[in-house]
Amino acid sequence: MTKVIYLDNNATTAVALEVFEAMKPFLTEEYGNPSSMHTFGGKIRKNIDASRQAVCDLLGANDPSEIIFTSCGTESDNTAIIGTLRSYPEKKHIITTKVEHPAVLSLARYLETQGYRLTYLDVDEGGMLDLNELKSAIDNDTVLISIMHANNETGVIFPIEEIAEIARMRNIAFHTDAVQSVGKIPFKLNQIPIDILSLSGHKLHAPKGIGALYVRKGTKFSPFLIGGHQELNRRGGTENVASIVGLGVACELAKRNLEDENTRVRKLRDKLENAIVEKISNVRVNGNKNSRLPNTSNIGFEFIEGESILLKLDEKGIAASSGSACTSGSLMPSHVLRAMGIPFTFIQGSIRFSLSCYNKEEEIDQVIEWLPAIIKNLRDISPFTNKKS
Ligand code: PLP
Repeated sequence: MTKVIYLDNNATTAVALEVFEAMKPFLTEEYGNPSSMHTFGGKIRKNIDASRQAVCDLLGANDPSEIIFTSCGTESDNTAIIGTLRSYPEKKHIITTKVEHPAVLSLARYLETQGYRLTYLDVDEGGMLDLNELKSAIDNDTVLISIMHANNETGVIFPIEEIAEIARMRNIAFHTDAVQSVGKIPFKLNQIPIDILSLSGHKLHAPKGIGALYVRKGTKFSPFLIGGHQELNRRGGTENVASIVGLGVACELAKRNLEDENTRVRKLRDKLENAIVEKISNVRVNGNKNSRLPNTSNIGFEFIEGESILLKLDEKGIAASSGSACTSGSLMPSHVLRAMGIPFTFIQGSIRFSLSCYNKEEEIDQVIEWLPAIIKNLRDISPFTNKKS
C-alpha cells in the first residue's frame, strides 16, 4: 500500500517516535503503581512529575501543580464544567457558543435538562464571536463561561485573552477548550487570567486516551471522577503512567516545533489553500483567515458532496475530513458551518484539510495536482443543476 498523505491532524495525529520510545519502558518493565510504598512503584512518581512540568512549560503556566492528568479532551471538558458547577451550586446560568465541540455542546444540552439555563453565543460568517453579545449575556446567576480557543472544523481562533478579562471583571469562572490549539500556537497562561483549560494528547502526537486539565491556583474546583487520592485528590483513578510520560515528551516536542508549525506548516497550508482557490471555481474558504490555526483549512466546493470528494481523495491515499457530516455520524450538516450562515450549497461540499509538522511539500503538491480533476469529474456527474468546474 502506498503511504497515506495524512491531512486529518485535527481528528488525530501520529504518535511521535520519541513519544513511543519514552513510553515503552512503562508498558514493559516499569509497571509499578506510582502510589505504592515500595521503591519499584514509588520511583515512577518522578516521571509523572516531569511530565506535569512539561505540560506546565508548554502552557506557560506558573506551577506544575496546576496540571491534572485526565483520560482525554472530553473528560477534561466535562471535568471543567461539572467541577465548576459543583463548586457553585447556587448559580444556574452558563454561557457557551454555538460552535463548540460536542464534548462541551452535548453536555450543555444535557445540563439544560437538569435545571441549568444556557446561552449559546452566535458567530458571524467568518466564525467569529461578538464580545458585546458575551458581555450582555452575563447576569448575576452566571456561574461559568465555557468558550473554545480554536475551532476544530475551521481553525478559527477566539480572542480568549479578552474573554478571560471580561470573565475576571465579572468574577465568573472561565473555561476554554484548547484541545485544538495547544501545541499549534504559543501559550502564556501566566499572563492570561484563564481559570481552567482543557487539552488532549492525541492532537499533539501523544497517544489517544490521555488528556490534561489546567486549573489556575485559587480556582474553586470539585473533582469529576471521585475515587482515590491521585492527582492531589482532584481526579481519582490509577495514573496512566505510560501515556502521561508520552504526553510530557509530546509537549516538549511541541514546544520545540512551534516555530515550524507557524512558519513552514502555515506556508504549506497557505500553498494548498491558494492553489485550490486559484485552480477551482466556485470554492470558498470557511473561517476568518486573520485569526486561524496555522495548520487548518476548511474549504467549501459548491455543487458536490463532501463525502464524494473524501472518497475520491481516499482512493488516491489522501486522508482529509468532511465538514458536512457532524461527528456523531448523523447526516445533519456541520453545526459549525450552519452557525456561520454558510450557504447550504457550500456546506455540503466542505472539506477540512489539517496539517502537521510531519507533512512534506511534495505531499501538498500531489494534492494540488490531483484535486482539480477530482472536483471536475464529480461536478460533471453531479445531480445539482449548476454544473461548474
Ligand atoms: N474539543 C475539541 C475542540 C476537539 O477537537 C476534540 C476532539 O476532536 C475534543 C474536544 C475531544 O477530545 P478527545 O477526543 O481527546 O476526547
